[in-house]
Amino acid sequence: MLEIRSLSAGYGALNALEGVSARLPAGARLGIFGHNGAGKTTLLRCLVGAHAARAGEVVLDGEPVRPGNVAATVRRGIAFVPQGHNVFPTLTVAQNLATAGLLFDGGFAGEVLRIFPLLEERRGQRAGSLSGGEQQMLALGMALMTRPKWLLLDEPSTGLAPVIVRDVMSQLATVSAAFGTGLVIVEQNVPATLKVVEHCLILKSGRTVFEGTAATLAAKPDLWEWF
Ligand code: ATP
Repeated sequence: MLEIRSLSAGYGALNALEGVSARLPAGARLGIFGHNGAGKTTLLRCLVGAHAARAGEVVLDGEPVRPGNVAATVRRGIAFVPQGHNVFPTLTVAQNLATAGLLFDGGFAGEVLRIFPLLEERRGQRAGSLSGGEQQMLALGMALMTRPKWLLLDEPSTGLAPVIVRDVMSQLATVSAAFGTGLVIVEQNVPATLKVVEHCLILKSGRTVFEGTAATLAAKPDLWEWF
């Protein structure tokens, strides 16, 4: 269970998040939407312990996530794929996966390569020479090397062609089904994300302005277009 309890956070005088809450049972799939500056990335950073909350807390399986030690949070089962291309461009695909597995025994590579056969095909290729979609797949594979219970993704569709976005979303659904991994996906592309997540939050100026099921939100495009 991943709990976000009345979380408030900010930067200097700015309040980026104010009293955001959610309770996610193991394996849940949450989408977080909202305009630029709504506080979505700040929420993800608090979840992984990369940013200290001003009030409230994040609790994983009954124990608070303590800020300031992201490696400890990753070991507890929360992996974070930040926005952008999070691969080592001069290393090969196999070396990238091995590097990501250093925190653990590295024995997860076989399962990751089974889920993403394309990475197996490209294992000797330098990551910098992969397409944007392939790099996103590798970043996802690297996050999975840490055997996460929860996978946090900050705008995984950014910079990808629509057909590749569909691939990335279906890979996320596959991963969640195969490993029981919970997903927390921050996205601008609401329709693509609604195909994968079950629950949604919309943030506006750091506050929750909608909380409900993906089906409810899918039936109300005017709602998410407005925010
Ligand atoms: P985006 O879609 O643009 O990434 P977001 O919803 O993820 O937006 P955040 O990045 O969490 O929003 O930003 C929330 C607020 O905090 C914004 O007003 C932003 O300008 C501010 N902010 C974010 N990071 C910092 C920082 N390191 N220092 C100061 N202010 C920041």
